[in-house]
Amino acid sequence: MTERLPGAADQEALNATERRRASAPQESRGGGSLASGSTLLELSDVWREYTVGRSTVTALEDVGLCVSENEFVVVLGPSGSGKTTLLNLVGALDTPSSGRIVVAGRDLTHASRTELSRFRRHAVSFIFQTFNLFPSLTALENVQFGIDVSRGRADAGLAREMLARVGLGDRFAHFPHELSGGEQQRVAVARALATGNPLLLADEPTGELDFKTGVEILALLHAQVGPGRAVLVVTHNREIARAADRVIELSGGRVIADAPPEGGRTAIGELRW
Ligand code: ADP
Ligand code: MG
Repeated sequence: MTERLPGAADQEALNATERRRASAPQESRGGGSLASGSTLLELSDVWREYTVGRSTVTALEDVGLCVSENEFVVVLGPSGSGKTTLLNLVGALDTPSSGRIVVAGRDLTHASRTELSRFRRHAVSFIFQTFNLFPSLTALENVQFGIDVSRGRADAGLAREMLARVGLGDRFAHFPHELSGGEQQRVAVARALATGNPLLLADEPTGELDFKTGVEILALLHAQVGPGRAVLVVTHNREIARAADRVIELSGGRVIADAPPEGGRTAIGELRW
């Protein structure tokens, strides 16, 4: 796998993206307007039960949590603890059995299908555990597609900038099957970052990656945090949780802890796993 940290050309592209973002009319894109220090995500008394045959599986049990702008929050839990279920609910890809979910001022539990569709395009960006790239589209087209869905125009310039930013400036024309797992994940990250949406959701984003690439991806995600923006990463990896502003621990579908990491946040460059 070719490894490359973003260089000067990439930094140039990044700066151009930030300028574009700063001048973009955020509110008209439906992301919700936010005052400083606002809560970006709030779950109260959320349950998600699945019926399988005659039995019921409780994936989430009475979950309550908040994420504010400027926060990099990690939801930590072992396999089967309800992390993906939680992320799917927050991203409006699934609906809770009961409880209330409010994202960027929008109550998802009372939203119409049209409102939910608008919310998915403009309020959240998703990085899936299994990338979910379109196999018949190139890296560039995959990112362009994401931009088109959220911004209403397939901006090739922005797609190139974002791919350069994740170190794939020389992989525009490659199809997913021509890329390594880490490179595919970076395309998925570029696609998510390019939307400019306020809440970034990432499901085990470093699960398939070697240490060095994982650190680069985490740094890119962390760089998204800022005024009006937050990042929610779910993982089973305790080391990743050390880099969070706050760690919410899930066990058997319940929140068992919600606090900053012990000893304070660790810089991403100092993580070891
Ligand atoms: P995690 O992402 O932490 O590994 P999940 O959210 O995927 O956990 O799953 C939580 C629990 O819910 C598991 O016990 C899983 O088997 C169950 N579950 C998840 N999705 C479904 C489904 N569609 N139908 C039935 N059970 C499910
Ligand atoms: Mg999962």
